Amino acid sequence: MHEFTAEVEALAHEVLAYSLDRLKNDPPLDGPRTAEDLYSEVGNTITARGLGGHEALELFTSVLAKACISTDHPRNLAFIPSAPSEYANLFDLVVGASALYGGSWQEGAGAVFAENQALRWISNLAGLPQSAGGVFVQGGTVGNLSALVVARAEARKKYHDATRWVIACSEEAHSSIVSAANVMDVDVLKVPVGTDGKLMGDSLAQAIDELHATTTHRVFVVVATSGTTNLGIIDDLKGIGSAAHERDIWFHVDGAYGLAALCAPSVRAKFDGVEAADSLIVDPHKWLFAPFDACALIYREPELARAVHSQHASYLDTLKDGAWSPSDYAVQLTRRTRGLPFWFSLAAHGTDAYTDAMEHTLTVAYAAADLVRAHPNLELVCEPELSIVAFKRRGWTSKDYENWSNTLLADQVGFIPPSSHQGQPILRFAIVNPWTKISDIEIILNRL
Ligand SMILES: *Cc1c(COP(=O)(O)O)cnc(C)c1O
Repeated sequence: MHEFTAEVEALAHEVLAYSLDRLKNDPPLDGPRTAEDLYSEVGNTITARGLGGHEALELFTSVLAKACISTDHPRNLAFIPSAPSEYANLFDLVVGASALYGGSWQEGAGAVFAENQALRWISNLAGLPQSAGGVFVQGGTVGNLSALVVARAEARKKYHDATRWVIACSEEAHSSIVSAANVMDVDVLKVPVGTDGKLMGDSLAQAIDELHATTTHRVFVVVATSGTTNLGIIDDLKGIGSAAHERDIWFHVDGAYGLAALCAPSVRAKFDGVEAADSLIVDPHKWLFAPFDACALIYREPELARAVHSQHASYLDTLKDGAWSPSDYAVQLTRRTRGLPFWFSLAAHGTDAYTDAMEHTLTVAYAAADLVRAHPNLELVCEPELSIVAFKRRGWTSKDYENWSNTLLADQVGFIPPSSHQGQPILRFAIVNPWTKISDIEIILNRL
């Protein structure tokens, strides 16, 4: 190890050839296998003498990689898949080869400068002030948690008699909000949504006022979801922001999936009100064509976050020089410069290319909804607000959905696991991949 031999050079060519091939060609869908099954084929890979680079790579490419579902396959419409641009993926190789440290300005100034420009683009699209800023963290779960911790610290400064802290959000909010509440040991007030699935400002206001009037519990943050993960529904951001701020409560917008579409003029107005956010998140690894994993976490007043998240230790004191250190803004210290692949692609292609790609995925989603509407056996759950198309198959039980989905993957046609809505099984297409064509949708619908 730690010697650049001819063998290393040969392996480098193999690795690059594999990566190039992966970038160039449509990936196979592939699928999971059991651990026992994999063990029977590859055995124990960790040995005292090592397998050798060529052998280990071969094992990965021929067996292990094939036991992973390709998230960028055009007919993988499950959960929220991914579709990194070629440039973003290529630059991920550079990040991997460069031993960049993204935790502090001192060590990572150039990389952090670039990441901050990418954050600025998102922040400007949201209409936040120029003083806004933040950091790329691992994912929306960590982004939400980090923002909520700052929100609670702010509330603690103002309210000394609260016996419990409470997060207010809709019943459709992402599971990571409850996860954050568990980590923070706070409660969650789930406010019912209307028939359109949206959390509205007035029902939120009413729920908060009732809680404050009848208990010593105190809402320290309101979380609006802008693009629910299951159906893509955008809460009433304007009404929610006003309700929060009229009560001097922090307003956080969870846009892990949906806020990516801030760059699409055709839907931009749906996000009106986001400019009032005290913090927001959006995952470039979801719908902004970046590889896993990167969540943009942005604060209106980043110095509030710094006061909460900055770590203090004798060996770190040299870093407290007032420079912008990403570690100061989230629950983390050491960090990969995980925003750089996104920055590179954005810088190289320009923001217009992002707008075009985003509008394209929206067009395909609306066309998919039209096909569902025209299909004799299918029924839309709701009109798609963004790029998630959810629908039911008439006459099917949960088992039918499951069997259909398993067969779809087994036949290597697509990956569309069933979801549910109001206790009923549904199917959903999450269309974030510009390679997904309407013909891909037709292939899937023909099997329903
Ligand atoms: C995906 C998602 C999250 C969680 O993000 P991760 O990157 O998976 O941790 C949070 N909120 C919403 C609305 C999401 O769609």
